[in-house]
Amino acid sequence: MMETDTIAAISTPVGEGAISIIRLSGKDSISITNKLFHSKNLMNVDSHTIHYGKIIQPSSSDVVDEVLVSIMRAPKTFTCEDIVEINCHGGLVAVNRMLELVLEQGARLAEPGEFTKRAFLNGRIDLSQAEAVMDIIQSKTDEAMNVALNQLDGKLSKLIKELRQQLIETIAHVEVNIDYPEYDDVEEMSHQMMEDRTAHVLNKIERLLQVANQGKILREGIKTAIIGRPNVGKSSLLNSLAQEDKAIVTDIPGTTRDIIEEYVNVRGIPLHLIDTAGIRETDDIVEKIGVEKSRQILQEADLVLFMLNHNDELTDEDREIFKMLQGMNFIVIVNKQDLEQHLDLDEVKELAGDQSVVEMAIINEEGIDRLEESLANIFFSESVGSTDMTYVSNARHIQLLKEAKQSLMDAREALQLDLPLDMIQIDVTRTWELLGEIIGDTASESLIDQLFSQFCLGK
Ligand code: GDP
Repeated sequence: MMETDTIAAISTPVGEGAISIIRLSGKDSISITNKLFHSKNLMNVDSHTIHYGKIIQPSSSDVVDEVLVSIMRAPKTFTCEDIVEINCHGGLVAVNRMLELVLEQGARLAEPGEFTKRAFLNGRIDLSQAEAVMDIIQSKTDEAMNVALNQLDGKLSKLIKELRQQLIETIAHVEVNIDYPEYDDVEEMSHQMMEDRTAHVLNKIERLLQVANQGKILREGIKTAIIGRPNVGKSSLLNSLAQEDKAIVTDIPGTTRDIIEEYVNVRGIPLHLIDTAGIRETDDIVEKIGVEKSRQILQEADLVLFMLNHNDELTDEDREIFKMLQGMNFIVIVNKQDLEQHLDLDEVKELAGDQSVVEMAIINEEGIDRLEESLANIFFSESVGSTDMTYVSNARHIQLLKEAKQSLMDAREALQLDLPLDMIQIDVTRTWELLGEIIGDTASESLIDQLFSQFCLGK
């Protein structure tokens, strides 16, 4: 299904940068660009070539920018349509002006994710691959990027397709038995055969779900809260983690500029630090914003770094926090080891139970290694990224896999009750459909729209 109009968007991040790219896709991409490009005629140039020249404002003949224009003709492009990418060298103003010019010449501003949506609709990529594009854009660490790249590469799709194939073969087998009972050269599907085949698929789905949690962590980051009394060293820890090029501070697209989320990458584990503004500005979570708010922050967190001061005695407030932390993943950090000990370490260890207590002197950069090790121990029993596993990291995929698992379990229960195969068939077919939704085979139109609207503009 080819869309008819030509879309355009700025496809590099908005902000200061040496080069910004305006991307067009659709049948008029080249002619629209040609009207603005005055150095040569682009209409007949070869596909996949780059051309240097100037963009001229048609009404005034003013030079807007010096550019490099890439021409990529259908169908061997990302969207399977004609694509033009204009590499502008100017800043934000020039890029916006360029986009305006392109729109004046007849392109339409792309909706978020529309380029990828076209790639999907034109059969270039399947849905899980389209989602991988989004994951790559949002990857916080190399490992997260690898998971997404594998998915883009179609590893997950391939596995899902294999599983669906096995199910559809089983379904077809039962159909033949029912519709053509006189056909005796087709072996009759027995309950045992059905059981063997579904067990195999169930096994694979369970394996995917087992590692999904790690995949999710890689994709979304571990929501981490750093808490503790004023002056224990929370900001110092944050800064120390953020140093050594580990920090990626991002403006999340689509949010206002003043909401900044921080990600730090610790041995490939992305920590998504929540409420860092609280640390930096109010300087004390418990006292200034109250126990209730801390409780809320803790509820959101996957991990809490609870800091204590080696040089101070434990307070009732600290003990209160230990109570709140019960049942959560947390690491107790005893900071300021360089100072004299006033803290009862035995009591701290007892309150921490089986969670780690890490001694540090952040001021001297001591203990960071130990903290990193504790983190790695909590989240990754086996090293992620080095293995050749297929990770499912996307919440939608995980949900569908869970549902698929459930309907296969239903099928197996029915098998054990010796129900007729054509009834069991219903659950197997449902599983086949659910798996299909992962790769977009049975996905409804509205689901597809929803997914693509989550993409960044211009991708
Ligand atoms: P926050 O209020 O919890 O964010 O604490 P800060 O990070 O602002 O630290 C409070 C003070 O403690 C600062 O003066 C830091 O330099 C100091 N500090 C941080 N870590 C250490 C440490 O390991 N040893 C000592 N002696 N001082 C530290």
